[in-house]
Amino acid sequence: MCGIIGYIGKREAKDLLVEGLKRLEYRGYDSAGMAIVENKESRSKNKGGKSILKIVKAVGKVANLEKKLEQATVVGSVGIAHTRWATHGKPSEKNAHPHTSQAGDIALVHNGIIENYQLLKTELVKKGYRFRSETDSEVIVHLISEKLKKSQDLEGAFREALKMLRGTYGIALLSKQDPEKILVARMGSPLVIGVGKDEFFVASDVAPLIAHTRKVIYLDDGEYGVLTRDGYTIRSGKNVSKKEPVEVEWSETEAKRDGYPHFMLKE
Ligand code: GLU
Repeated sequence: MCGIIGYIGKREAKDLLVEGLKRLEYRGYDSAGMAIVENKESRSKNKGGKSILKIVKAVGKVANLEKKLEQATVVGSVGIAHTRWATHGKPSEKNAHPHTSQAGDIALVHNGIIENYQLLKTELVKKGYRFRSETDSEVIVHLISEKLKKSQDLEGAFREALKMLRGTYGIALLSKQDPEKILVARMGSPLVIGVGKDEFFVASDVAPLIAHTRKVIYLDDGEYGVLTRDGYTIRSGKNVSKKEPVEVEWSETEAKRDGYPHFMLKE
């Protein structure tokens, strides 16, 4: 169980996400990855051009990912990133998150363990889904694609897919069709929303958030949320959970220790 960081706002997401991953490094990990929605309009005058999802992954240190990102042109202000601690499938680039849907229109990062993944995978394979990784996490993205066949409502498909999962998860998701949103969900794997000025973050803990904002919302188990540039909605089932941000008083060092007096105790 490692780390998630996501950003939606007006600033370039790439560097913010790398910095966020570095602040999550203390949690330990074996690989890292990032997905950013690139709006073609932001790179050229091609108005009406479709959004694309840029994915970059690397095994080992966040610095390895950073190096790869330096070589790639990644422009966009909506993105998610992940550090992985492998539970299903060895540490490798193809097993690193984000995982994408077959059509490449959805990218998803997951922390935790999907206990019924084998069952779900067998069903999805029967339906023609090809798995590219050995992870349990990949079932989530195909499950959402499957739900999207019935209705093009991303949030509805996300909610329906979550209902089928057993186990633990912290999830963040991007979609090319809905490029101005990050969908998030929590079950047994911590997830915090950071509320900034015209920008929002999501992370596994407050450590990567406090450099940007002190206002946070801790998601509860069973809750999911939608972040846009203008705000956030948190729901439990179809009901809106009315949650106001709370002020974090921790210093950055304290945040990294997650409340423990020493790193060793935390470990
Ligand atoms: N179970 C997932 C995997 O093996 C997620 C691991 C994590 O929480 O980093 O890829």
